[in-house]
Amino acid sequence: MSIALEQVSKHYDGAAAVNDVSVSITDGEFFVLLGPSGSGKSTLLRAIAGLTTIDHGRIVLNGRDVSNVSPREREVGFVFQNYALFRHMTIADNIEFALRARRVPAKLRRQRRAELLKLVSLEGFDRRLPSELSGGQQQRVAVARALAHEPRVLLLDEPFGALDARIRDDLRRGIRDIQRAVGITTILVTHDQEEAFTMADRIGVMDRGRLQEVGEPRVLYARPKTRFVATFLGAANLLLGHRERNGMRIGESLFRLDRIALPPPSCGTEATVVIRPEDIVVARSDVRAAAHPIGSAEVVEMEFVGSLERIRLSVEANPLLQSALKPDAPVFSMEASRSARESETAPLIIGQKLCIGVKRIHVLSTRISSLRLLGTRDEAELRLKKSKLVSDLAMRMHITPTLHPAYDAGKAPLAGLPVVELDEGHGLQIAARLLQDGASQVLIVGSDNRPAERLLIYAQPSRPARDSVLSTAGSLLRHMSVDSTLLVPADERSLYGARYRDLLDIRNAALQLHGVDVRTESFREGIADELRVRLRSAPSTMLLIGMTSSTSGSALIEALAALTKQCRFAAVLVTCARSDTESLSVRHVREGAVASFG
Ligand code: ADP
Ligand code: MG
Repeated sequence: MSIALEQVSKHYDGAAAVNDVSVSITDGEFFVLLGPSGSGKSTLLRAIAGLTTIDHGRIVLNGRDVSNVSPREREVGFVFQNYALFRHMTIADNIEFALRARRVPAKLRRQRRAELLKLVSLEGFDRRLPSELSGGQQQRVAVARALAHEPRVLLLDEPFGALDARIRDDLRRGIRDIQRAVGITTILVTHDQEEAFTMADRIGVMDRGRLQEVGEPRVLYARPKTRFVATFLGAANLLLGHRERNGMRIGESLFRLDRIALPPPSCGTEATVVIRPEDIVVARSDVRAAAHPIGSAEVVEMEFVGSLERIRLSVEANPLLQSALKPDAPVFSMEASRSARESETAPLIIGQKLCIGVKRIHVLSTRISSLRLLGTRDEAELRLKKSKLVSDLAMRMHITPTLHPAYDAGKAPLAGLPVVELDEGHGLQIAARLLQDGASQVLIVGSDNRPAERLLIYAQPSRPARDSVLSTAGSLLRHMSVDSTLLVPADERSLYGARYRDLLDIRNAALQLHGVDVRTESFREGIADELRVRLRSAPSTMLLIGMTSSTSGSALIEALAALTKQCRFAAVLVTCARSDTESLSVRHVREGAVASFG
């Protein structure tokens, strides 16, 4: 049975436990929901089973909307983390429980029980009590019990949580075999990435109530789209790469990126690059024979874990070799790994100086690679750092913002995301100059230190502007727990006229290309009036505005200046799509960018 979730949301006390989750799971698929504790996995699973109501969205099983259907009618079997076997009942009675409730005759019940005990390799255990079984055996009974009434979906919530490693391994294999034998569509919840890798056809990674990315294990590992997924699925070094005309520069090497076109160096030159520990090569003098050299480092720590050796390195930063987590740190840490054989033939010692090289990089499609706080006057950059909106964003994106005391035209950082404070309109002038100078985006933070509770998105009517704004929205929404709405003019007959078909197209494009599910709303009067009305009723709003280079940035800034005199807002993020960079962002998102050595 196929499962489709459409914009499923669930709030507890005003906070979103599950936030606009949309995904389609095919018939017979083994889908793993992976995420840290508290990310909303159990809530989502319980919503699918009908054990929890949802506030928004639809749950569709085999084409039928079951959002308001009772759990029993959903044809779902559920296994909980803490074995929920009935302690006082025999294994036989436990397994037959759902069948009794459905008034299945005794003979059929016995027959089904025998089948199930065979399936989970526990034949002959009928008369025992749960306490007479090991933990692993009890969980197999729980699986048999969940399958008794022949559900068409099996939901497993951390079923191996309480078991020790050895039994867990066996049980994982056992459950995968059972699932294949029965061919039942299955969703398994876990916080363990190894478990997700070994079991899943596809993994959906959750964080803070959002489904961050969905994909096959290998693809997610090699080509994640987000910082979170890159780091949650294993060790990852995150560096800032610098785009040049012919490739991506990291330290002393230029990586040729065959599969993507590169933008001219003037706009948005910075990108977040993921390097896995196994793609790093270390050598005493020269790594050139095996990899692209990027710089030098010192051995800080070594750890031998059987098949491989993990090496913690302290790397000297320079303007072209920077950590994406702390761009202004003079030294930063990287992790390399090598095989046990290599560590035997070329042993290292703590404190040793090494050259480091890289065999393969992956470029994230994330639009926001760093936060650059620009002073307007006085201590504005420090105030910015303390602002709730900036510190929240920095914390959630795992970025340390860098401080740039004064704005100096031509010298200010145009890379990353420059951030200015509104500062009675002074910040708007700086934003206008940054855009003129070629920055591809600017964040203007409101003066009254409001957190953003919702995101209001508007793009000037052109495809590049819309794509760029949705791409930035994708980056933001993965890290903020806010509702988002895309405003679409109702009166245009063009591509962006809010005909129903167009709204659907926009939603699909946003979901396919940028991984965000935005709601769309149309408006009839001018955009300035619309924003005024909306901001007046909800000042804790972050505006996200997309424009193209052909449109004058200063006209936009003037409109914003007028708006700021009349109403308050949490922040405004302006993105400027330059036609030559747009093809890049789209292809980035589709394929990921991979550069390999050789
Ligand atoms: P996970 O299974 O990924 O650990 P949960 O779905 O259990 O996450 O929880 C997600 C968030 O929702 C958490 O912040 C949790 O505290 C909250 N939550 C879950 N269930 C309830 C509930 N019944 N009442 C209030 N808050 C809840
Ligand atoms: Mg849970």
